Amino acid sequence: MCRHLGYLGPPRAVGEVITAGSHSLRDQSWAPRDMRRGGTINADGFGAAWWQGDPGSPDGVQAYRNPVPMWADPAVDGVLGQVRSGAVLAAVRSATVGMPLERAACAPFTGDGWALSHNGRIVGWPVSIAGLAEWLPAVELLRMPALTDSALLWTLVRRRLDAGAPAAALASVTADVLEAAPESRLNLLLGNGTTLWATTVYHSLSVKVDETSAMISSEPIDDDPGWQPVPDGRLVEARPGHLNITELGDHL
Ligand code: GLN
Repeated sequence: MCRHLGYLGPPRAVGEVITAGSHSLRDQSWAPRDMRRGGTINADGFGAAWWQGDPGSPDGVQAYRNPVPMWADPAVDGVLGQVRSGAVLAAVRSATVGMPLERAACAPFTGDGWALSHNGRIVGWPVSIAGLAEWLPAVELLRMPALTDSALLWTLVRRRLDAGAPAAALASVTADVLEAAPESRLNLLLGNGTTLWATTVYHSLSVKVDETSAMISSEPIDDDPGWQPVPDGRLVEARPGHLNITELGDHL
């Protein structure tokens, strides 16, 4: 299953954030270590989102996506090597069987200043969660970036972000999907340019936070002893100087 990464800290080249480390996100596209029954490589595309200017502004987030393996795109070192940001959220994709291979299906999904990535799959998609999608207004379904489980999760989360806190939005969406489609794998990573939130539902995740930077990653990108694995069923909230790991259920 896909791998994702979030970074907050001193401005760096976006291309560097996703290629730095002895086990960088780019390395994880062809040699992931902890896929847990979810595929072997992440060669079905990638994406990187970054924030510039006022992180709170709705158009403060930009993204680059390409439905090719990250290692095959020279823009990662070229163009993304020229873009600097102190807030990055990126993902490499291993498409779930039956889901389209296209740019729009590559996370992160962005809008209104938010970026979201999903690592996992909704079991029984789309039939299992038909009831959950049914109450979405047609216009929301039309705005779905792609016909994938991850894009629907983004649509559900985005709608609930309007209503309340990010942690509550992630916790309620994962709970509702798990009720409709048990055993779904729902590691979500959400950012707004100043804070990162992540869930662990049956997939790996590690965090590393100090006074100047914060990183959340499906797999540690290097051997730094500061990485800490996140147990299953948790909600992580991280930014430089701040790390809070709580039970997902506490936010319902
Ligand atoms: N199910 C999602 C997709 O197909 C995410 C896949 C994954 O985590 N490998 O895009």
